[in-house]
Amino acid sequence: MKPRKQTSSTPHIRVAPSGVHGLGAFATCDLPAEAFLGLYEGRRYTQQEIAARTWNDQLTYLFTLSNQETIDGAKGGNGTRHLNHACDPNCEAVEEYDDAGELLLKFQTLVAVDAGDELFIDYSLTADDGSTAEKYPCHCGSPNCRGTMLAPVDAD
Ligand SMILES: [Zn+2]
Repeated sequence: MKPRKQTSSTPHIRVAPSGVHGLGAFATCDLPAEAFLGLYEGRRYTQQEIAARTWNDQLTYLFTLSNQETIDGAKGGNGTRHLNHACDPNCEAVEEYDDAGELLLKFQTLVAVDAGDELFIDYSLTADDGSTAEKYPCHCGSPNCRGTMLAPVDAD
């Protein structure tokens, strides 16, 4: 297998076959907690543009921000799009505004990780189309696995 071309924006991530699902993102070196991993990059869509499209939902790399903009990591994205879900993650996604007022999504470690560790975030997906939890099964294997990548349902 040929080594993937690295983007300079994610120097601490290497993309390789995951132990859980498809490709995954792995730490290239030992990292402390709260180490910056990279920005979620890709084509941006407004909420209206997203609603007007039909998506192949199993194979897209869509990440919707709190301002309802969506980033499609499949178009111009970097290695961060291969971060897999785990219910007990070692990384997290954090939103941050840049100087130009654009909302960015950055990934950072939650805890210290070792070189070669697979990196995970908790997707906490929300299924706008009313999909059931079974449609997004989780196989992360952690003791507190919810069994789904959907966000925990709030009791109301
Ligand atoms: Zn899980």
